[in-house]
Amino acid sequence: MSMKKEEVVIFGAGLVGSLLSIYMVKAGFRVTVYEKRSDPRKTNLYAGRSINLALSIRGIRALETVGLSEDLKKMVIPMKGRRMHDVEGNLTFQPYGKEGQYINSISRGGLNERLVMRAEELGVSVLFDHKCVEVDLDNTRATIQGDGQLFDIEADVMFGADGAFSAMRQSFLKQDRFSYEQYYIEHGYKELSIPPATNGDFAIAPDGLHIWPRGNFMLIALPNLDKSFTCTLFFPFEGDPSFQSIQNAQDIDQFFKKYFPDTLDLIPDLIDQYTSNPTSSLVTVRCYPWVKERCMMLGDASHAIVPFYGQGMNSGFEDCYLFDELARSHGYDWGTVLGAFQKTRKKDADAIADLALKNFVEMRDHVADERFLVQKKVEALLHELYPQEWTPQYTMVTFSHAPYSEAWNRGNLQHKVIQPFLTQDVINNPETIDHEGVINALRSVL
Ligand SMILES: Cc1cc2nc3c(=O)[nH]c(=O)nc-3n(C[C@H](O)[C@H](O)[C@H](O)COP(=O)(O)OP(=O)(O)OC[C@H]3O[C@@H](n4cnc5c(N)ncnc54)[C@H](O)[C@@H]3O)c2cc1C
Repeated sequence: MSMKKEEVVIFGAGLVGSLLSIYMVKAGFRVTVYEKRSDPRKTNLYAGRSINLALSIRGIRALETVGLSEDLKKMVIPMKGRRMHDVEGNLTFQPYGKEGQYINSISRGGLNERLVMRAEELGVSVLFDHKCVEVDLDNTRATIQGDGQLFDIEADVMFGADGAFSAMRQSFLKQDRFSYEQYYIEHGYKELSIPPATNGDFAIAPDGLHIWPRGNFMLIALPNLDKSFTCTLFFPFEGDPSFQSIQNAQDIDQFFKKYFPDTLDLIPDLIDQYTSNPTSSLVTVRCYPWVKERCMMLGDASHAIVPFYGQGMNSGFEDCYLFDELARSHGYDWGTVLGAFQKTRKKDADAIADLALKNFVEMRDHVADERFLVQKKVEALLHELYPQEWTPQYTMVTFSHAPYSEAWNRGNLQHKVIQPFLTQDVINNPETIDHEGVINALRSVL
C-alpha cells in the first residue's frame, strides 16, 4: 500500500534531520523541515571555527544509500589509528583495526551544509529561523515560531530530529508513562585549534586521531581539510586541575606546560583561544517511548550520548537508514512502522550510550596502560586467527553493522573470558597467548 505524497514534517535541519529529509523525499513524500537556527550559508554559524567529527561505516552506509558517496570522498581525511602523546612528547601509534580499516575526520558544518543542499535540490522545503515550540502528539500538529509570529501546522507524520534538547521531547514529557533520564558527566569540553605549520602543511601527522591521555582528562585532535587540527580538551568542571581551577593566563600556561608541553609550539595563541572559546557540557539522554501516534523522535532527540566512541552522528545516521529500510518493507504504513522501529532500536541506543561512557575511561586512561595494550594486541591476533569467532568490541562498533547491543554483550563476554589468559608471561610476550584455550573458553560460555 503506498501513501505517497503525504506530508512529512521534520523538526531540526541538523545532521540527522537533513539526512532523514533526503530519505523521505526520495520515498516520494512532500517534506518540510523547520530549523530554529539561521541558514548557515548566510550566517557565520561556526564563527570561523572548524569543528570536525569522526565518521565511520554506519554513517557512511546511510549517506551512500542516498547517493552521497562522491561528495564524501572529497570531504574526509582517513584516520588509521590513535596517535598517542605522552607527557615527554613521545609518540606511539595504535591501529584501530586491520590494514585498510580507518575512521574519517569530516567537518560538521561542511557535511551539514551539503546535506541541506542535497535535500533542497531534491525538493525538500527547509525553513530556517523557524522554531518548533510545541507538538500536539495525538493530532500530529505543532506550533511554530517564525517570521515574527506563532502559527500552527499539521502533517501526516512528524519527526523530532531537533537534537539533545528537543522541543518534541518536551511535549513527550507531558505524557503519562514517558520515561526520561538525562545524565551529565563531571567533564565538559573546550575546543582549540592547531593552525597549519608555517610551510602550509599539517603541523602533526594527519593520518590518525591524536590523543594526549592524562588519566582523569585528555586532549584529542582531528585533522581538517585546510591542514589545521581541531583539538578538544575533555576536562572536569571542578577539582584540581579542572576548568574551575584554571582561572588566568598563567594557570593556562602552567597547565599546558605540565601536561601537554608538546602542544605549546603547535597552538601559538593558546591563551586567547582558551579564554575566548566556550566550555560546554556533555549529556546522555535516555527516554522511552520515542513514538506517540504519528510522531517520532530520532537521533540525539531520543538518544544523545557522550562523544567518546565517535558514534553520536553515526548512530543517528544509522537510525535514518534502518528506519527507511523498515518503512519500505512495510509500504510506509506509519501505524506499524514507527512502533516497530522504536522496539528494535531502543536496546541499541542504550548499548551505544553505555559503550560511549565506557570508552571515555579507555581513551583518557587505559590507552596508556600496558595490560590494556597487550589485550588489544592479543585480540587483534585472535581476530586474525578466528575471524568468525572473535571480533574486538571496538571493531564491532566501528567497522561493522552489527547491532550495538550485540557489540556490547559480545564484547563484554570476550573481555571476561580473556582475563585469566593475560598472565605476566603474556604481558611480556603477547605472542605466547594460548589462543586455542581462549577460543575454547569463549565457546564454552556461548
Ligand atoms: C564535542 C562533541 C564531539 C562529537 N563527536 C562526534 C564524532 O566524532 N562522531 C559522531 O558520530 N558523533 C559525534 N558527536 C555527536 C554528534 O554531534 C551528534 O550525535 C549529532 O550532531 C546528532 O545529530 P542530530 O541531528 O540528532 O542533532 P543536532 O546535530 O544537535 O541537530 C539538531 C538540530 O535541531 C535544531 N533544533 C533544536 N531545537 C529546535 C526546535 N525547537 N525547532 C527547530 N529546530 C530545532 C538545532 O538548531 C539543530 O540544527 C559529537 C558531539 C559532541 C558534543
